[in-house]
Amino acid sequence: MRRTIAIRQVVRYRLTAMRFPLRCIVMPAPMLNDVLPDLLEEMAYLLKQQGADPLEPKLRALRIESVCDCGDENCASFATAPEVKVANYVELQSIEGQVIIDLNAADEICFIEVLGRPDIKYLLEEYYDAQSPGGSNS
Ligand SMILES: [Zn+2]
Repeated sequence: MRRTIAIRQVVRYRLTAMRFPLRCIVMPAPMLNDVLPDLLEEMAYLLKQQGADPLEPKLRALRIESVCDCGDENCASFATAPEVKVANYVELQSIEGQVIIDLNAADEICFIEVLGRPDIKYLLEEYYDAQSPGGSNS
C-alpha cells in the first residue's frame, strides 16, 4: 500500500515538473486551500462564529506568498500578499494556538499569523521541502 502511494506521488511530481520547468519557477505561490485545507476550513468556521463571514470568500482565494522567516519555533505564519502592510486584524478564537488574520488598508488579507500550531508548521515545512529542487527525501 505504502509503495503505491509513494509511486503515485513521484508521478504527480514529475508531471508538475514537466509542465513548469524548474528554471521558469521564480516562486510559485500555492493556494492556501492546496497546502493547508484543514486550516482554511477551521478559519472559515471561526470567522462565521465571530460574525466575520464577509472575509470567507477572500480567505478561500488566498495564496501563500511566503512563509514567515522569523525563526521562532512556535511560528507558522505566512504572507498572503506580496506586500504586507497591516492596518487591521481579526483574531480568531482558535481552540489551539493563536490564529490572527491581518488586513491591509484595503481590507485585503495580507498576512496570517499562526502561533503555537505545530500541525500547521509541519504541513508548511513538508510542502516547501517537497517543492525545493532536490529537496529532502525524508
Ligand atoms: Zn514568524
